[in-house]
Amino acid sequence: MQVFRYSQARSVEGAVEVAARSGGAFIAGGTTLVDLMKLDVLQPQSIVDINGLPLDRVESLPSGGLRIGAMARNSDLANHPAVRRQYAVLSEALLSGASPQLRNMATTGGNLLQKTRCYYYRDVNYPCNKRQPGSGCAALDGFNRIHAILGGSEHCVATHPSDMAVAMMALEATVHTQGPKGERAIALDEFYFVPGNTPERENVLVPGELITHVTLPPLAAGTRSHYLKLRDRAQYEFALASSAVVAQVSGGRIQRVRIAFGGVGTKPWRSREAEKVLEGQEASAENFSRAADAAMANAKPLKFNAFKIELAKRALIRSLTNTTQAA
Ligand code: SF4
Repeated sequence: MQVFRYSQARSVEGAVEVAARSGGAFIAGGTTLVDLMKLDVLQPQSIVDINGLPLDRVESLPSGGLRIGAMARNSDLANHPAVRRQYAVLSEALLSGASPQLRNMATTGGNLLQKTRCYYYRDVNYPCNKRQPGSGCAALDGFNRIHAILGGSEHCVATHPSDMAVAMMALEATVHTQGPKGERAIALDEFYFVPGNTPERENVLVPGELITHVTLPPLAAGTRSHYLKLRDRAQYEFALASSAVVAQVSGGRIQRVRIAFGGVGTKPWRSREAEKVLEGQEASAENFSRAADAAMANAKPLKFNAFKIELAKRALIRSLTNTTQAA
């Protein structure tokens, strides 16, 4: 591991200034960054410790909705009364991720910026365009069982590993940042890039730009939500396919629905195709099946992960059934 400079931030402005000037990485819980530094996958020139910043509050907004500080720990957010009461999908997604110890450390901002679990990315002995642009992609002809079936390119097919971000995608969250040029509010749906020709660029953040908080819009009365995660073992495992559903149902019809998938896309994957099939329609098994087909119509499986198409369809159908039966 290389020698790097370390500093403790005393203000958001100071953190941004130091990180922008020194090519630094922010460290909060450290649950991703420290691992990857030990593996020599990430080698930041400097580390800016933001644990002292007052960004850990979770507050209901006067207009409805929720404001989540970037430093709010995953376990605190999952168990916050307002989240459990109004945003069950988010609480369920958070509690399905990692282990209790990791959730106690991991933060909201860090969770959004999690690095892929592609094993070739994490092993410097293999070519990886995301880690070293232009070196190639070992996953394309390698063991690609955990990789993406949506949003991939000839340069990278790595999935985004976050559960929390999938729930936030279905909740239409907004990411708020402070960067060298001031504050920004970015719809989560526009926050992530698909890999295309530049898999090393994963999101819209510029050097030194810090996530300060996330906001969730209020949900209409009667809205229900659910997160279902399917994986190789019941705990401490990443999704092979997951689905987040936020639905408003009345009179047996789906008035409004938002759908996102994890484990199958190169970013937390919102499916407007499935939403379009369902909105205004009867909450029926037949329509759920049609929505699942629409969601996976553009899937491009690799040698070892064609099973994800059926798995993701079943995850969505189950989530929709659970969500709408409760209404
Ligand atoms: Fe690297 Fe992406 Fe290929 Fe994995 S899938 S080896 S992260 S380029």
